[in-house]
Amino acid sequence: MTRQKTPSLDRFLLKIDRQGDHWLWTASTAPNGAPQFTADGHQHARRWAYAHFHGPIPRGGRITPTCDAPLCVSPYHLALSGGTSHSTPDELSALKLEAAKARQELRSVAPSPTAPTP
Ligand SMILES: [Zn+2]
Repeated sequence: MTRQKTPSLDRFLLKIDRQGDHWLWTASTAPNGAPQFTADGHQHARRWAYAHFHGPIPRGGRITPTCDAPLCVSPYHLALSGGTSHSTPDELSALKLEAAKARQELRSVAPSPTAPTP
């Protein structure tokens, strides 16, 4: 069997417009303006991006943008708050494992934008 592609990731990357460090969402948004992306049980582009690139979001965790661009979904510009206290130790170790895998994938898709370009 050959290695499978990641359709959700492909779809996600087709919907963003990389502007400098920002990944601006070009597809549909919710009435409140939040980028919408339905994949892998998520409906919000930022939650999907965080879960995909940083690892699963702990129960009750909130994802908030850390930059000023309203449509930015860059995993580098998303912060997780809350949630971890409700997760069991087993869940936490599973989350950490997933997160390590996800970070590796992020590096292959998009090297850190903070690295200066010569
Ligand atoms: Zn941004």
